[in-house]
Amino acid sequence: MSTAPLAGIGVGSGSAAGAVAKAAPAPVLPPPRPVTDPAAETAAVRAALAEVVADLEARAARAGGTAADVLTAQAMIAADPVLADRAAELVATGTDGPHAVTGAYAAFRAALLAAGGYFAERAADLDDLRDRAVARLLGLPMPGLPDPGHPYVLVADDLAPADTALLDPERVLALITVRGGPTSHTAILAKALGLPAVVGCAGAAGLHDGRQVLVLAAEGTVHPDPGPEDVRRAAEEQRRRRERAAGATGPGRTADGHPVALLVNLGALHELDGAAAADSEGVGLFRTEFLYLDREQAPTVEEQTAAYRTVFEAFAGRRITVRTLDAGADKPLPFATAADEENPALGVRGLRTAVRDPQLLETQLAAIAEAARSTGADVRVMAPMVSLPAEAAAFAARVRAHGLPAAGAMVEVPAAALRAERLAEACDFLSIGTNDLAQYAFAADRTLGALAELLDPWQPALLDLVAATAEGAAARGVPVGVCGEAAADPDLAPVLVGLGVTGLSAAPACLPEVRAALADRTLADCRRLAVLARTAPDAATARARVREALGAPAD
Ligand code: PEP
Ligand code: MG
Repeated sequence: MSTAPLAGIGVGSGSAAGAVAKAAPAPVLPPPRPVTDPAAETAAVRAALAEVVADLEARAARAGGTAADVLTAQAMIAADPVLADRAAELVATGTDGPHAVTGAYAAFRAALLAAGGYFAERAADLDDLRDRAVARLLGLPMPGLPDPGHPYVLVADDLAPADTALLDPERVLALITVRGGPTSHTAILAKALGLPAVVGCAGAAGLHDGRQVLVLAAEGTVHPDPGPEDVRRAAEEQRRRRERAAGATGPGRTADGHPVALLVNLGALHELDGAAAADSEGVGLFRTEFLYLDREQAPTVEEQTAAYRTVFEAFAGRRITVRTLDAGADKPLPFATAADEENPALGVRGLRTAVRDPQLLETQLAAIAEAARSTGADVRVMAPMVSLPAEAAAFAARVRAHGLPAAGAMVEVPAAALRAERLAEACDFLSIGTNDLAQYAFAADRTLGALAELLDPWQPALLDLVAATAEGAAARGVPVGVCGEAAADPDLAPVLVGLGVTGLSAAPACLPEVRAALADRTLADCRRLAVLARTAPDAATARARVREALGAPAD
């Protein structure tokens, strides 16, 4: 390779080459300045607002499907004449353009929130529209996803949820972020879209638009100006891996027939069709937060029932594991979490919010139960962030009181892993959330790329906690899955099975390689790999040892 590679954290195992297009950051509002020519200032404001509308309309025309609908709806909001008139009024009172636009949007936001319902839900879109108009006035590139008119490698500081909804895998070849860790929500999104990604890549900040790069997710590297031979070799390796993955289908099992349930993670309704079409035994983790985000109040029981029915019907005949609301920390909700906690990741979050506000969980369980009853679906319900066996028992009692047949506890807190047998006694299954389990075991914020080494799922101490959980579950004869990002790594999958895990749940795009990896190994092989990894002195050695052993012929 001609230029030194940039190092980051690889997400997935794919590769892609293409030209960089950067997502511009949101503009920082400069200090107010005096207005010398109000007429010119007003004209500039109106022009900036109109340019934002034109840009959104042009993007909508190029985009297809739901992205076009979202963009058209945004264009309509941005075109509201009330906004431009309000901004003009502010300029007339001596406010400069960028501050007038900001003030107009603030008033508009308050009006939408006061209107409630659908309008209140749209209030969250306004920040992005405001930033675009302000950037225009300041002569800066518009923030958000770029649109260079050809497929590109997206380079961003990090991605906002609003950007990710519009990310089109047909146009984005690969994803590189300067910030973010291996379990950040950007990494989860990249997996959901099946995009090769490198996150936490500080060197990517220096890449400019149009530069050719080769992204090797398995290595966690980005290679600027790759030679044609490098690109050819990476494409060949990608093709070989895809072919191998396509060769294994059906229920997960090891080479000697030991069953391992392979399930999909689902986090939004727009992912549903792809998730349901994937070759899987059902849903191992249905993250329900999307129903609650960007709202001032919890969704009603009717609204939730309708959403759950849609999912249950799409997975008819297969199992669906619904996780109850996991609010707090990186997913704050005004009606469920306190804004004044000093350490929200250690605060009233996950199942703890349901203890403080029992009605929140009651409504959700009632909706899940009604959707399960009316569709006849095989539904299991689990709670996030369980710390104590007594919490698992109380949750299971509430689930069963709604007539739901199976209640589970997520193991995301080291205390729960250490007392897994007691936890397993209190419920019907366990599911290990390795993302949070790593965060809490290593006291390392999962969103920080700088702490990637601590968050590496190959850390032997994390594997010890997985083993402790699997042993506790086995002692009580209850199944134990992994639904964190660790389950998506085809090299780690045999290790997890060797530790005693009975199911793996991951983004649909990751399942074929995981299935193929298991099909190549016997259970005895998996157990040997688990010992190799657990006895390693560090994560890098664990990974290297197992990869080397996987290169060797199976028994
Ligand atoms: C986890 O923590 O591993 C998990 C699956 O939950 P989330 O990533 O949604 O916190
Ligand atoms: Mg979690």
